[in-house]
Amino acid sequence: MNETTTEILALPAFQDNYIWLLRVGGYAAVVDPGDAAPVLAHLADSGDRLCAILLTHHHADHIGGLAELLAHPQTSAGLPVFGPALNNIAGVNRPLSGGEIAVLPELNTALDVIAVPGHTLGHLAYYGASLIDSNLGALFCGDTLFGAGCGRLFEGTPTQMQHSLAKITALPASTFVFCAHEYTQSNLRFACVVEPDNPDVQCRSREVAAARSAGLATVPTRIGVELATNPFLRWDEPAVRIAAAAQLGQPPQNAVETFAAIRAWKDRF
Ligand code: ZN
Ligand code: FE
Repeated sequence: MNETTTEILALPAFQDNYIWLLRVGGYAAVVDPGDAAPVLAHLADSGDRLCAILLTHHHADHIGGLAELLAHPQTSAGLPVFGPALNNIAGVNRPLSGGEIAVLPELNTALDVIAVPGHTLGHLAYYGASLIDSNLGALFCGDTLFGAGCGRLFEGTPTQMQHSLAKITALPASTFVFCAHEYTQSNLRFACVVEPDNPDVQCRSREVAAARSAGLATVPTRIGVELATNPFLRWDEPAVRIAAAAQLGQPPQNAVETFAAIRAWKDRF
């Protein structure tokens, strides 16, 4: 399906956002351009033409550069702008609610659109099962899953978010996860408190500290790494259930209650 290799670049924006740019053969698509400037700088340097914009959710740090990009001469006329139908975002001409396929013909790629309500109600993720390699996928998940963390529940319920995260963890463990923020190091400080005896969390904390002091990004991450170290995905883990019970004052009854207790704890952490 994806015969040409897709290059995926991180364009840093603001304090800790990443705008992800997919490029093949002189064309580029961007995910969550909160700021136009880094995207325009890439187009100027590379000569790439912008052929699609994908939005995960309506927050300003993810859509703020949209109007300026649409007005730019290196932007193709009629450029598809994919985004959540629920939010009526100005400029979105491919409104989505999950279950669709976002076709990017210039990149020879099609991405599955997955509804992941929780951080916002309309939140979407985009998944290319063979984007990295013929059997190695990539997920662009905005503010739903972070390195060792997950997005805050601004609009959705814990039930919605836990179900959204479960959809993500059902993808192959090898899948690369392109999160929209560099939050991994601070998230791991919380993960160490939730699971002080998890050696994978300890090991990842050291690796991430070294990467950050070298000025390196800690994303993309992989689903398998998150399953081993992310307390927001480890609702079946006895140590996480015990930590949730200590917060609740009674044992959690199910995965949603465990997740909700950990999320509420992190909000106060
Ligand atoms: Zn957000
Ligand atoms: Fe954000």
